[in-house]
This record gives sequence, C-alpha cells and structure tokens, in this order.
Amino acid sequence: MLNNMTGKIILSATFVLATLCLTELSLSQPAPDVKPIEPLTEDRFIEGVDVPPSKPKSNQEAERSVEKSDQGGVPDEGKRAQASLKCDIPGALISSSSSVAGTSGDDDCGIKDPIMLEGVVVGNNAAKFPAPVTISCEFARKLTEWLREDIVPAAEDQFGSAVAVFRSGPGYQCRRRNNLPDGKLSEHALGKAIDISAFEIADGSLVSVSKDWGEDTKKGRFLKTIHALACRRFTTVLGPDADPNHKSHFHVDIGCHGKTCTYLICQ
Ligand SMILES: [Zn+2]
Repeated sequence: MLNNMTGKIILSATFVLATLCLTELSLSQPAPDVKPIEPLTEDRFIEGVDVPPSKPKSNQEAERSVEKSDQGGVPDEGKRAQASLKCDIPGALISSSSSVAGTSGDDDCGIKDPIMLEGVVVGNNAAKFPAPVTISCEFARKLTEWLREDIVPAAEDQFGSAVAVFRSGPGYQCRRRNNLPDGKLSEHALGKAIDISAFEIADGSLVSVSKDWGEDTKKGRFLKTIHALACRRFTTVLGPDADPNHKSHFHVDIGCHGKTCTYLICQ
C-alpha cells in the first residue's frame, strides 16, 4: 500500500517535472532569426522587381489572358524539339536537349515557343552564355540581333576583341514583380526577358555592369553604347540608372507597354 502510494507520488512528480522542463524548453526557444537582406552582387539578379513603379499602365494583362489559352505551361521534350526546329534564327546557337525548369505551380507562367539559346556565332567566333538560357523564340530573335549586331561589334570597337561570354540569368523564371504573390507577372515568366550582368571579353578582361557603368573608360563607354542600342530593339531596357534593383545588371524584355504596345521604357 505504502509502496503503491510512493510509486504514484514518484510518477506524479516525474510528470510535473517533465511538464516544467518542456515549458521551460519552449519558453527558452528563441524566436527564429529574421533573414538579413543580402547585398547585391553582380551575379545576383532580382527577378520580379523588373519594372520601376513609374511604369505606365499597359494592356499586358489582357494580352496575356488571350495567350494563356494556348500556353499550357512548360512544354514536354517533344514539343520543345518541335519549337526549336521551327525557330530558325541566323547566327543563334539553339539547343533543345536540356530540360526546362519547372513553373513553381503558377499557371500563368509558361513560354509559347520555348527554345534554349546557348549563344551566338559571329564569323568564326562563338560567344556563349554560362549556361543555355530558356526563352521564347520571338525574344531569342531580338536578343540574338542585339548580341551579334550591337554587342560583339561594340566590343571589337572598344577592345579590339570579341565577346566570349555573356554572364546572364537563366531567362525564364516563374515569378511575379515586386516579389508579391499576386503581383503582375514578370516578363521572365513568359520567356520574354533576360538579365545580363557582365561580359567576358576574349582578351581576358571583364566588363561588369555594377563596376563599370557610368565610368569614363572603354568599359564604361562600351556599356553605354550597348544600353543605347538595346533601346532600339527592346520595349523595356533597365540599367543601373533605372532604380537600385538594376545596379548590377541590364534587364531587357519585349513586354507590351501602352494600349498599342508602342510605348518604350529605356532607363
Ligand atoms: Zn530581369
């Protein structure tokens, strides 16, 4: 009887102690740390914060809802091979073998005519992206023209050397602007945009948007020249003068601005 009572007391005491310990534990558990915002580097892109707040109202949404019906997200291997066969761009190095990134479950994302652009050829020289970029054929055409007809010749003018590598983001990214879950879709989410942060010149030098923009040097003049030329080809061109989100790279896209899609943003 006494043993039984002692047992019960010991059990109750153990329970109370255990409960106290658990309470103590949960109270002493620190609140999760707030993740600090990383500083911008030339290799980091802030996709989804692509267009400054001053961007004029556009009918992009209307256009996209029409497009959406035949977009159907990221296509399978067969459809991609077909798309790259149909996408014939002079001087473009197009591959269809690599896989296309997922859409993060966002139905609005997707490319109607996807291809993977590895780089471009000018004469005997190839200039490539660090990894093939996934973009629409329509955008690839404009981009290839800018790379081959503007950027490579401008490098030859300034440095007497061709471009070897265009340091870029991946092109396609299923994201919305301003990092809001229900914000407007970024042009990256339609494969109609790319970010370029630096140019590796064949002579071994590096031209970086974050370091060389605004400098009165050959590199600075090269960047100014190709930025100005981009404004003749794309509907949106954003560089370090646009806003702090573009300090480290040029963003170019072929999004529609204004009712007739004739409005251009060149900053
Ligand atoms: Zn961008």
